[in-house]
Amino acid sequence: MPAASSSDVPAAYCGHCGDPLDARDHAGCDRRLQLEPPRYCPVCRRRMVVQVTPDAWTARCVEHGERSASTWSGTGS
Ligand SMILES: [Zn+2]
Ligand SMILES: [Zn+2]
Repeated sequence: MPAASSSDVPAAYCGHCGDPLDARDHAGCDRRLQLEPPRYCPVCRRRMVVQVTPDAWTARCVEHGERSASTWSGTGS
């Protein structure tokens, strides 16, 4: 087993519905997560504090910090 870094914890929960990733198929959730920010921390399942701006979102877990991504950018210029 490799030593786990606290900043690189594998996701265990679905960021969209909060259910464990191995509990069921989350393909639909994955599609939603490409369009909207996650609601749950994928590591600890806490509700994330989400801030949305016109072209990006930031989701913050009190335990695991921020995740952010540009979204709605599509393939346009
Ligand atoms: Zn899900
Ligand atoms: Zn967390």
